Amino acid sequence: MAACIFCKIIKGEIPSFKLFESEKVFAFLDIQPLSQGHALVIPKFHGEKLVDIPDEQLAECLPVAKKIAKATGAENYNILQNNGRLAHQLVDHVHFHVIPKPNQQEGLGITWPAE
Ligand code: C5P
Repeated sequence: MAACIFCKIIKGEIPSFKLFESEKVFAFLDIQPLSQGHALVIPKFHGEKLVDIPDEQLAECLPVAKKIAKATGAENYNILQNNGRLAHQLVDHVHFHVIPKPNQQEGLGITWPAE
């Protein structure tokens, strides 16, 4: 879809930090990451919501999300997919967030309880 920002990213018309690309799937780092390594996995097929994407265009998305989650080394992570404004969807092209949580030993630079 011509006006879709993620379709433009897939085509390389808008730059992105690409992590993975295949015939049906594209993955890149989120420009406003909620944590280090926050990535988006998208089907190349344009559809606004999950129900708009044919199964065969969607099938590879979760395996790719799984690979990325594993590659971050995070023991804890969220895989998130929003549908519709009330569900916090801002970009109307289906996408799966991969949001790693920092491992406890790396922490957030704070020690708690305080010594
Ligand atoms: O699920 P939702 O639609 O709210 O998330 C859209 C995500 O797309 C946001 O996390 C935003 O930072 C990301 N984004 C991006 N690159 C863009 C536009 C949006 O990574 N050019």
